Amino acid sequence: MLIPCPPTALPEAFWVICLRSMQAFGRGRRVIFKFNKLNSKKCAYCTLQNEKCIPIPWYVREEYAAFWAAIDDLVLEEEEEMDLEEIIAIKRAAYALDNVVRVTTSMMKESGTDPLVFALLEGI
Ligand SMILES: [Zn+2]
Repeated sequence: MLIPCPPTALPEAFWVICLRSMQAFGRGRRVIFKFNKLNSKKCAYCTLQNEKCIPIPWYVREEYAAFWAAIDDLVLEEEEEMDLEEIIAIKRAAYALDNVVRVTTSMMKESGTDPLVFALLEGI
């Protein structure tokens, strides 16, 4: 059974890639971010790390699109070699996304706003 997308998560990213995998890309790593089992709550990377998957939040839609534009379909071919420019572009896009998440999270913490309330206030 598929797990429904939480209201605070970006629907197009949900079950595709999680924030932890994105952060790994932002650090210049290339990780297996696939969700292998439909009933599993964890992606391959989080399973390996023994960590909880964190969904990508809804407010980074633009950054998420930029990340996919950078990554294209390169990462789907595990064996394929990427050149340095491609690696840098992916790393930058993932880092930019993570940065927005960090800033927004700290803003929500400072204002004492619950992420779900924040999502509702922003009209999603
Ligand atoms: Zn994960």
